[in-house]
Amino acid sequence: MKERIYSIPLTDALNSDCDCVMCTLEDKLEHDAVDYFMGASKMEPDVRIMTNKKGFCRRHLHMMEAGGGTLGLALMLDTHLNEIVARLGKKGKPGGLFAARKNIGAVTSELEEIIGGCVVCDKLNSHLSDAAGNLVYLWDKEPEFRKKLESSKGLCLPHMLLVLKAASSELSGKRLDEFAGFIVNTQNEMLEALNEDVNWFTKKFDFNHKDDDWKNSKDAVPRAVNKLVKF
Ligand SMILES: [Zn+2]
Ligand SMILES: [Zn+2]
Repeated sequence: MKERIYSIPLTDALNSDCDCVMCTLEDKLEHDAVDYFMGASKMEPDVRIMTNKKGFCRRHLHMMEAGGGTLGLALMLDTHLNEIVARLGKKGKPGGLFAARKNIGAVTSELEEIIGGCVVCDKLNSHLSDAAGNLVYLWDKEPEFRKKLESSKGLCLPHMLLVLKAASSELSGKRLDEFAGFIVNTQNEMLEALNEDVNWFTKKFDFNHKDDDWKNSKDAVPRAVNKLVKF
């Protein structure tokens, strides 16, 4: 039943006529993941071991800070910092600051490990690949969903990649060819049209075109940004 978990949010996103159905879903899943770590789970010992060790990326730490609940965040940061101090500081295991002072390589690799992880990103990425698999599954099994997806505004490039990767494990043979063909063709058409709009936008700044119609180019730049990167 794993494939069906995201059916409702995916259908809702398709009905909302958004620029990328997976961006709309990711926005929801990302807030859910932040809420999970800021909620009751932060007091569970196994979750705490994870947040102490992995910590949070810049984006998600700022989201947690902006979301309020400063005491909850302080409780997590307290033990996370404790672990960082133990790893970098002289209280730590052999190879801590005392040894590291003589070996900048040890400090930099420890730091890279400390700042490189994020529990929210890990949780979100695992849910997102399930959701991408779910989208492929629904395209394959539900004619109504397929029709809506095929007339939607497409996907941003990072989500196009994610969905194509999911397709290679969800489908095979002719079905996979058909799905990949649909994604690649519609994305190419959409990118060509977008390119034309952005190009016309630049031409409108030319004196010769100042009285010409904007056509579909007025919002071409924000639309291009949304297509190139996730929301
Ligand atoms: Zn997207
Ligand atoms: Zn993150």
